[in-house]
Amino acid sequence: MAIYLYQNDLPDGLALGPVVAIDTETMGLNPARDRLCLVQLSSGDGNAHLVQIARGQVGAPNLVALLTDPTVLKLFHFGRFDIAALQAAFGVATAPVWCTKIASRMIRTYTDRHGLKYLLLEYAGVDVSKAQQTSDWGSAVLTDAQRDYAASDVLYLHKLKEALEAILIREDRLALAQACFDFLPTRAKLDLMGWDEPNDIFHH
Ligand code: MN
Repeated sequence: MAIYLYQNDLPDGLALGPVVAIDTETMGLNPARDRLCLVQLSSGDGNAHLVQIARGQVGAPNLVALLTDPTVLKLFHFGRFDIAALQAAFGVATAPVWCTKIASRMIRTYTDRHGLKYLLLEYAGVDVSKAQQTSDWGSAVLTDAQRDYAASDVLYLHKLKEALEAILIREDRLALAQACFDFLPTRAKLDLMGWDEPNDIFHH
């Protein structure tokens, strides 16, 4: 396993395959207010690619090309947030997408534990540390612990998707999940425009 760190954008010519796991780290939980600091990507081969985004940076051509490539599926855990953060930073809608949290909510109706840590423990057999989750991602120099944490958020998503997708198929809910994934970029845009809780248009 290797962790590669880049500044501002992915390098030219990096091929990450048809399904790319993506996670982001930001300055906080409000994607309209809190800037994007780091984008983590993995092709599922055990390697992680980390892209640091500078304050005020508006473009990242190689990254944006990947986010908007209709032939590449972008795989997230709670993509609603990451897609909004990427839209706020670069002005693009990420698509097509798949979300392991939505998949989990749709089939694991026997539990309210849909956090990545629990899911990776159950379906990938790995126990990842969440200790760095709330650290300062705007720092110019990331610590080794931050890099390891950031990488662990994308390294096992392919394995998790495989397990959850099998259950979605078994329970005949894959089509419903797919419709939710397809709606995610719009959901993220609504969040950015102010229609998040408590003004959610789907609420009473
Ligand atoms: Mn993360």
